[in-house]
Amino acid sequence: MSVLSSSSSSRTLKIGILGFGTFGQFLAKTMIKQGHILHATSRTDHSQLCHQMGISFFRDLGAFLEADNDVILICTSILSLSEVLKSLPLNFLKRPRLIADVLSVKEHPRNLLLQVLPAEMDVLCTHPMFGPESGKDSWKDLTFVFDRVRIRDEETCSSFLQIFEKEGCKMLEMSCEEHDKLAAKSQLLTHIIGRVLSEMEIQSTPMNTRGFETLIQLKESTLKNSLDLFNGLFIHNKFAMKELENLQFALEKVKQRLLQRMEKTCLNESKH
Ligand code: NAP
Repeated sequence: MSVLSSSSSSRTLKIGILGFGTFGQFLAKTMIKQGHILHATSRTDHSQLCHQMGISFFRDLGAFLEADNDVILICTSILSLSEVLKSLPLNFLKRPRLIADVLSVKEHPRNLLLQVLPAEMDVLCTHPMFGPESGKDSWKDLTFVFDRVRIRDEETCSSFLQIFEKEGCKMLEMSCEEHDKLAAKSQLLTHIIGRVLSEMEIQSTPMNTRGFETLIQLKESTLKNSLDLFNGLFIHNKFAMKELENLQFALEKVKQRLLQRMEKTCLNESKH
């Protein structure tokens, strides 16, 4: 794992966003602000929004791939990636490109991209550890994880990474496997607890403590993410099941300790 800080020069990029949902739109705003030229395609017709944002929207995948993008940035859901990649008419690409992704799991896209893409295409796997809520005002000091899986065109890769460096992100280079291990212990756990709190239907009370306010915030911020994202975090991270089991085990342990203590207390009280 290494923290990167680079001052090399960057150039204007033509970036094709594949999957123009919540997160694709969020990233696009900053890329446009920095002067990059954007193209987009998606399952849903986002042409009106793209028009307002100054982005060319392509309904046709072939035309999107022909649009001479320096970088194709995959922002589709984790669960749809395999289907989306299979549907790409890669013969429409004119020259080797950088293919980057932002999926919240990393081994799954890396494996699929290496399987599906021709060997001459560069692959950069990334995960911005923030979203439309946490990054709405600024990306400063927010973490950007990346793995340079297969890079020959250093200049394009570096220009792409500098989009995030320029915004003040903390750039963290690590392997896809290392990412997934840490993400299961941190991000996935956060999402699971948020979903559990939602199942419990926790509500604000007139006497909230600060701690309880934090739980309500966690529930609300978790529910802003799609269920597809949550399911994808679990299904496509090989470390996820272990963490879910750890959580269940810990909850059971806490319960057992409380019950033992209660039994002891009752016994003592009945003696007096
Ligand atoms: P999401 O529900 O994970 O993904 C929505 C995107 O996936 C939309 O572009 C949607 O296309 C596309 N999609 C879903 N099912 C599809 C299918 N069957 N075929 C083709 N496209 C399909 O929500 P998201 O928040 O926008 O996340 C997008 C990606 O960014 C995910 O991989 C996620 O892990 C990653 N990410 C998200 C965040 C975040 O805070 N939200 C942060 C870091 C990384 P349409 O819009 O055309 O329907």
